[in-house]
Order: sequence, then C-alpha cells, then structure tokens
Amino acid sequence: MDPIIAVLQILWVLYGGIGFYIIFSSSSIDKEKGYVYTDAEKEADIVAKIKTRDSNFNSDIFKYCARQCVLDIYDHFNRCETQELMPLESTELFNIHKSDIEQGITSKKLNCTVLEEVEIRKITKYKIDGNKEVIGCKAYFTYQNATIDPSSNSVLKYDVNMKKNTMYIEFIKNKNVKHNFSFALNQCPNCGALIEVNAQGICIYCDSSLINGEHSWVLNKVEPFIDKM
Ligand SMILES: [Zn+2]
Repeated sequence: MDPIIAVLQILWVLYGGIGFYIIFSSSSIDKEKGYVYTDAEKEADIVAKIKTRDSNFNSDIFKYCARQCVLDIYDHFNRCETQELMPLESTELFNIHKSDIEQGITSKKLNCTVLEEVEIRKITKYKIDGNKEVIGCKAYFTYQNATIDPSSNSVLKYDVNMKKNTMYIEFIKNKNVKHNFSFALNQCPNCGALIEVNAQGICIYCDSSLINGEHSWVLNKVEPFIDKM
C-alpha cells in the first residue's frame, strides 16, 4: 500500500473518531449551564405519551400556564396570602408553605424568593401515579433573596444580586380530569361560584374539594434540577 494513502486512512479514522466524539458529547450537554442530561432530550417522546391520554395536550400552552402558576405562587407566598395559594398547590406543598408563612408571622421573619423570571425549558417527566397524572419540567429561575417581616410588611434584608438556578418543577392533576390547560381556577367547576374555599380547600358553597389537583393542574414540587444519568 502507498504510504501516503495509509497515512490518509489513519487520519480519516482519527478525525472521524473525533467528529463522532464531538457530536455525541455536545448533544448531551446544555451549553448555557453545562448540565448533562438525558431525559430532557426526549421531550417530544414524553409529549407524544401525554397525547395518547389526552389528544388536546399542547406543550407550549402547558409551559405558558405553568410559568404563570409558579410566578403567582411565589408572589402570594411573599405576601403571606395563604388562601390564594391553596388552589394553586398540592396539599403537600400547600401545607409546607402554610407552615412557613405561619412561622414567619410568629417570628416576624420570613425568607422569600423574589422571582424575576421563570423559563420553563422542557417537559422532562410524565407518569401516572395512582389516580394522579404527573408532569415534571426543567426550569430556569432568575431571582433575588429577601427577608421580610410580615407583621409590619417591611423588608429586613434584600440581596441585590440576581441569582440563577436550574430547577425541577412538578405538577399533578387527577388523571380523570381532562381540563389540561387550566391551572388557577376562578370559578368552582362544580357549582360555578367564584372561588372561595375554607381552610381545608373545600368550596364554601357546594362542599367540593378544590385542591390537590382535583380539578386542575397544581404545583407539587420545586427542587434543584439534578440530572439522572
Ligand atoms: Zn362549589
């Protein structure tokens, strides 16, 4: 064999290998944050799975509503508006937030996250868990930390530095409810009255439960995004 051709063949194999390495490694790296993920790559597959249960599902509308839901929740939390939080959250998350707010009022000190922006990046998880439908998303939070005194409505501490974090947010809904696009309820779906709930999340007019995703998507979890390889 011509030595020049042999050298070219070696180089071709070498460069081919490097090329493959670059293609495969870059596909699993989120360049902006440097996180390596596998699940998020398959958003189209996940959405297709959701559509087999609900053909009207639209991921863009879901993400738009999910973003608004998260912004509203943090806003209500920072204002200690417990009653307004209730229809937006699962019972589990609501109980945590309610207890945080109560402790904040008692101690005159509440740690708050002031959300500047929430970007819902991708739907990364979908499953049926008992009678619940679960959708998980990867999101970027831009925020500032603050400590307030709820009793006097004053700011005790305010961090001017804007922070950014990649978060996992999870929504749940009764799997038999098809209202996929509704997050915050304005009206009771059972009796039509404007939402007014008691401390247990029961409509004061017709006694139907309006929390824990019984009628619409509610936020169930917010935690740092961890890649599961
Ligand atoms: Zn009602």
